[in-house]
Formats: sequence, structure tokens, C-alpha cells
Amino acid sequence: MDIGVLTVVSVVLAAVAVHAGWRAVQHWDDDGGRALRMWWTGALVVLAVVAVGFEVGHHQRQRLATEAMTVLTDNPDARANCERLTESLFNLSQYDGYVYRDNPDVALYRRHVCRNLASYAASNKRDPSLEQVAAVHLIAHETMHVEGVWVEAEAECRAVQLSHLVAEQLGATPAQARELQATYFAELYPLNRSDYISGECRAGGALDIFPDRTEFP
Ligand SMILES: [Zn+2]
Repeated sequence: MDIGVLTVVSVVLAAVAVHAGWRAVQHWDDDGGRALRMWWTGALVVLAVVAVGFEVGHHQRQRLATEAMTVLTDNPDARANCERLTESLFNLSQYDGYVYRDNPDVALYRRHVCRNLASYAASNKRDPSLEQVAAVHLIAHETMHVEGVWVEAEAECRAVQLSHLVAEQLGATPAQARELQATYFAELYPLNRSDYISGECRAGGALDIFPDRTEFP
């Protein structure tokens, strides 16, 4: 169960709003302070609706990321954990995604990754931003860790060759998915840290997982 600060805030605000509304109705005949009670109830309802909206958005993005991972793993426990706003304020990590070896079913994603993934899923997929391309690719990369591939260059190269399946899962056509994959390999792969890059990540290289196909990746 994913409970964050906002979950608690949402529940408390909703409860306080209901209570205020109930009091406003109970004291309806009491003219003194009726307007204030109504105003107070309205303000609480608005705050509660906003808080619940943000909370639901978090869970929707997290579920979308989990579903995107399922195309690359048979592990039924594989799931995404999207960073919450409160967590992001204290996260100084340089990584956009991470899988801990002692909790290998769960891929942790920075807040902007899940947001970019969701914006890609909601888009027409014709001209994704590089941030969206990177987010789709990162799902594939972290899922390789969930699958037990821990050498970064190997996980990265496998992800390079499989990321189109993630894009398709998010609604891209096969052609759009292949284009996203090619964009990542041409524009973002070379910018990786050196231990994520391998000269064997090429057609016919040691990290080529589909040696029979003609075009890489
Ligand atoms: Zn990695």
C-alpha cells in the first residue's frame, strides 16, 4: 500500500470537509455565522478535491509505469514506485531510476520520469520530447534490473533493443515506437556515463540480443 503525506492530508481534509458540511446543515436555522460556516465548508471541499486529485494522479502515473514494465518481465511482483513530491524535496540522487538489489521487484522512478511517461502516454506519439523518450527508455532499463541484469552496460543495451515494446504498450504504433527507440540510441545513448556504454552495443556485437535482424537497434 503506497501511503504518502498527501494520502493522509487528503483523508484528513475530506473528513474535516464532511464534518464542516454536516455542522453547517445542522446549524442551518442559526442565522448567526451561517455564511461563515458555508464559506468554510466550501473552502475545505475545494482543498479536499485538489488534494484527492493530486493523490489519484500519483497512483494513476504509478500504475501506468507498472503496466509499462510488464511487457518486459514475467515477474508478477514487478512494479514501479513513482517518487512523491515530498520525497523529491529530499532526494539528492543523481539517478532518474533505481532498483535495489535487496528489493529487486521494485523500480524507483524520479517524479519527473513518471510525469514524462504519463505525458507521453497521453500524447499523439508523433513528436515526443527527449524527456519523454528518456522516460520510456528508462522503464526498459530498470526492468532489465528487475529481470536480474545488473551490469549497467548490458542492462542499457538490452533496454536500447527492447524499449519500442514499452512505447507500444503506452499506445505508440510500431513505427512510432521504432522511431522513439532510434532517437534514444542516436541522441541520448552516447550521453550516458561511460560504464553504461559499450562498443559491443551494435549490430553483431556481443550485446546484440537479436543478431538476425538487419537494423540496430
Ligand atoms: Zn541501471
